[in-house]
Amino acid sequence: MAEHILVLAEQLEGQLTDVTLELIGVARRLAASRGSGVDALVLGDGVSSLAATVPADRTLLMEHPALRLFNPEAAQRALEAVARETSPWLVLVPNTSLGMDVAAAVATRLGWPLVAYCQAIEERDGQLVATSQLFGGKILADCPVGTDHAVLSVLAGAFSSEAAAPEPPARIERLTPPAELDALRVRATGLERPEAADVDITRAEKIVAVGRGIESKDNLELAEELAEGLGAVVAASRPLVDAGWLPRSRQVGKSGLKVKPRLYLALGISGAPEHLEGMRDAELIIAVNKDPKAPIFDVAHYGVVADLFDVAEALQERLGG
Ligand SMILES: Cc1cc2nc3c(=O)[nH]c(=O)nc-3n(C[C@H](O)[C@H](O)[C@H](O)COP(=O)(O)OP(=O)(O)OC[C@H]3O[C@@H](n4cnc5c(N)ncnc54)[C@H](O)[C@@H]3O)c2cc1C
Repeated sequence: MAEHILVLAEQLEGQLTDVTLELIGVARRLAASRGSGVDALVLGDGVSSLAATVPADRTLLMEHPALRLFNPEAAQRALEAVARETSPWLVLVPNTSLGMDVAAAVATRLGWPLVAYCQAIEERDGQLVATSQLFGGKILADCPVGTDHAVLSVLAGAFSSEAAAPEPPARIERLTPPAELDALRVRATGLERPEAADVDITRAEKIVAVGRGIESKDNLELAEELAEGLGAVVAASRPLVDAGWLPRSRQVGKSGLKVKPRLYLALGISGAPEHLEGMRDAELIIAVNKDPKAPIFDVAHYGVVADLFDVAEALQERLGG
């Protein structure tokens, strides 16, 4: 029976992402309950110094020119080969823009079950249960995971990164890349960064974030005034950016930016997992939403079930606006 856990380490331009440490942390807890260990797989080209910083029991390093930039096909082939070779109990993949392109394909190719969008993984009565967030967090599905192999794709921010011990790996093993990496159909030609932003929301201490509840572009003025009174900057959920109401540099979330301000005031944002991924680490989250069941309240330190226009007006009055 397979016991150990394999974590796909995520790196971008040679930097390990936070979610990798979160996954190693949860893998450690699960592996410890079986007296087993954690392998981390680092994919890239010229990333051996990065591999030396990954706090797993064993770091598996695979380098190949096709892995220099993220290429979903290359990552799929590499992870599949390693999973076949090492036969872990669980494969943990970050449920990020990169990991989403890998987890389902690898699970299908291996014929192993996949639980995606995991926000919790715990032992209950001797049975491992992975909780998957469905429909933007409106439904939580408990999925029993057997003792056989499985792939779990885990939401960023669902677990603490502190559980990953800071020590470097006990062992680093260099793996031979599978032959498929020399015959890929997908080629990554470059990494494009967005143009420089008017405001860097990742450095803002206070953020007034607006979602679809703001209703129209004209109402953004309200958020701007409130932000000015609070000494904050305005950010938004993705639909507002997609509608062209605010530039991409103001988008918080999975396909936007990750922010960690001292204050995050969320007005009319439902709290879909893709949005939470970008802001759940804020020091103080205050959410205003008409719907008491909105998932944003699950991460908010203070929640106001009310019309955002009423709250904004009252706040403006208090701020003397
Ligand atoms: C691959 C992928 C990547 C994505 N990346 C991102 C991302 O980076 N960032 C992101 O934000 N989303 C992202 N999304 C989209 C995400 O799934 C949600 O659709 C989006 O976050 C919803 O935005 P919202 O909360 O503004 O809108 P909605 O979900 O429509 O929520 C609006 C909320 O406003 C409330 N409301 C309405 N009127 C009022 C009022 N007058 N007063 C108070 N509350 C009110 C409603 O109750 C509701 O909860 C991504 C999706 C995918 C599939």
